[in-house]
Amino acid sequence: MNDHHTVPVDTPAAEVEEVRRFWERLGLPGLIDVHTHFMPERVHSKVWEYFDALGPMTGGLEWPITYRQEEAERADLLRRFGVRAFTAMLYPHKPGMARWLNGWAVDFARRTPDCLHTATLYPEPGVEAYVREAVEAGARVFKAHVQVGAYDPADELLLPAWGLLAEAGVPVVIHCGSGPAPGKHTGPEPIARVLARHPRLRLIVAHMGMPEFEEFFGLAERYREVRLDTTMAFTDFTESFMPFPRTALPRLADLGDRVLLGTDFPNIPYPYAHQLHALERLDLGADWLRAVCHDNAAELFGTAGPAQDGV
Ligand SMILES: [Zn+2]
Repeated sequence: MNDHHTVPVDTPAAEVEEVRRFWERLGLPGLIDVHTHFMPERVHSKVWEYFDALGPMTGGLEWPITYRQEEAERADLLRRFGVRAFTAMLYPHKPGMARWLNGWAVDFARRTPDCLHTATLYPEPGVEAYVREAVEAGARVFKAHVQVGAYDPADELLLPAWGLLAEAGVPVVIHCGSGPAPGKHTGPEPIARVLARHPRLRLIVAHMGMPEFEEFFGLAERYREVRLDTTMAFTDFTESFMPFPRTALPRLADLGDRVLLGTDFPNIPYPYAHQLHALERLDLGADWLRAVCHDNAAELFGTAGPAQDGV
């Protein structure tokens, strides 16, 4: 079962305990993780192949995936960690794919009630119509991947869709920074053009915008609906090649109401708990951690409520 890419399928109880102790210490009812990947099996295997091949998606980095269990097991592991709500980040790399992914995501959300129903989009004719359909079908969050999709997020074809999402108040997790590898349209400039047109669009900049952390902080400081997710930022893995500038810590502290926990589970080359410890060691305090790891997302997605019993 275990080749060099695989860890034992049975996640040790100690690891589950470590994650749970983190949020229990903070007095939280659990975690909300806005950046986790669930995709049709065929697509997911393709993505894992990319990571294995050290392809352009990883910028040639060695990237052993930690969690390769079956889909149901992966969802269950998040529950055992105490993740009360998570997402199914999926994204097309070519036209004609987004609508199909969205169809799969409707079904996934139906059979996975703790997953925030996720949808995606691509600059193509008909995008506004299928984005509207997805919102009407109950999509709570969208995912856009500027590097993999290789499109300009300010593409004319997308503007009506952004307008619709801004109007509906549906957040969009967008991979738009130039990490781990740059793309033709990554970086803050195209996003600034989108926001100039739709200043109330609820963009959640994935990976804290790495490596353009500070430029994306600037956009969040300027536009109050712009948020950032922590996905992979501050970890040993990321710090080794895209370190967070320590001088920007005060800005990160001030943006505490706009930062959301994201992890990239299951596509991560280290255990889940490491992301949490990476946030903790920033030393921004328990209030900051509570907001980032649960409260901000609970407010944004309206998932606040009494703690659930059991695991
Ligand atoms: Zn991701």
